[in-house]
Amino acid sequence: MQGNSLKTLKQVRMYPIPVSDSRVSELITWYIRTLQRAIDIIWENIEWKYRFPRVERRKRKQVVIIPYKLKVPELPKSRSFKKRLRDEFLLDCPYARHWVDVVIRTAYSVMENWRKRYLRGRARKIKPRIRRRFARCKITLMKIDYESKTIRITLKPGEYLSISWKSTWFEHRVRGWAVGEVIIKDDRIVIPFKSSKEVEVRKVIGWDSNELSLDGYEPSIGFIHVDLKPLQSMKIVYERKKAIAQREGRRELYEKYVRRERNREKDFINKLSAGLRSLFSNTVHVFEDLDKEDMINRKKRRKNRRKRNARTPWKRIHRKVSEAALTAYVDPRNTSRECPRCGYVVETQEGQIFECPRCGLKMNRHKVASINIRRKYLEEKRRKERKTRMRGFPHSYEPEEAMKVELWVGVTPSGRSPMIRIPMKWDPEGGEAKGRGLNIKQHQAQ
Ligand SMILES: [Zn+2]
Repeated sequence: MQGNSLKTLKQVRMYPIPVSDSRVSELITWYIRTLQRAIDIIWENIEWKYRFPRVERRKRKQVVIIPYKLKVPELPKSRSFKKRLRDEFLLDCPYARHWVDVVIRTAYSVMENWRKRYLRGRARKIKPRIRRRFARCKITLMKIDYESKTIRITLKPGEYLSISWKSTWFEHRVRGWAVGEVIIKDDRIVIPFKSSKEVEVRKVIGWDSNELSLDGYEPSIGFIHVDLKPLQSMKIVYERKKAIAQREGRRELYEKYVRRERNREKDFINKLSAGLRSLFSNTVHVFEDLDKEDMINRKKRRKNRRKRNARTPWKRIHRKVSEAALTAYVDPRNTSRECPRCGYVVETQEGQIFECPRCGLKMNRHKVASINIRRKYLEEKRRKERKTRMRGFPHSYEPEEAMKVELWVGVTPSGRSPMIRIPMKWDPEGGEAKGRGLNIKQHQAQ
């Protein structure tokens, strides 16, 4: 890459501080009761509007925009409606007025969430119910002293709740980070710490997310293969265990397996993202936008793609990596159907080997996808920078050269640190990892 650019890495880490204060439970009780009331009132004032079927002509093709007559909920958002809501809640609010504002804000975000899921066919026409006990705070209700590392939360005018993160086990992990809006639970207060720093981008890796592997490409490294089979086999073992427990009607045992599986999966993902971060510094990791994929191809999603989402928790992996390192997402269309050398798009792509009928390139499908994902990102970035339409990023001979080397990365799910193994000789410029069985230093991923 010519000309290194800067990118902002935003990180959030959440840590709980235990509390035992009866005022906290009282606050939460008032909060969720008022929140539910706000949701009830918003629900009653929803306007259901019809949206009619629509078909548009785009690029000589008929495209269905809205497939059938649909009733769409519109939330009441007028200023007068919100004011009435606020005035009503202020009548019996024993707390500072800002608490009413935060309740209303939370109610709207719950409702917006429901509305989005409803329109995607993922939620039914049922009023959302608040089941968990919590209270979200507002920054105007918090006074943060970074010197003494304390947060003072206003309950009522002149009445406060103080917590401190001084001498906690995570104190050093959030030094210099900013405090965000806390979440109050009955026995703890969860503080989100945020940091934002400029990182010099030296590498861009395109990652193809598959069921059994994560396949990356970066010209100075070559291809990177991250083995996900350990995660996969762990999940298969638990699937069997859960099935047996369910068949025997042993609910407690079943739940125990669910918890264990979740913990082991979390552990694996933490190690994977920590490993990627320490192996590839100053790197943008580019993934396919899987939300977009779901939306475009809900019906005709190809078999292999459907399969890849079945067991491997891709969204959770992507989320975890983006908490630790720079990430970007691209449209997944055609990523495994376009020839990385000449740009030809093949109609169907079956089997492991991609074969270009125009230029004759033969290459592993995942490798093809990783090159294309990387190129898509760079293309988009250039387009944004120049703000003009480009004819397309040149395809190149890079892949053939890179084919000579491949870096293999494995995460050992049971061991304490991720393992990196390199079966082939690897000679990148300034590579950090050399030799067999290199251990990445243990990383305390939360
Ligand atoms: Zn070709």
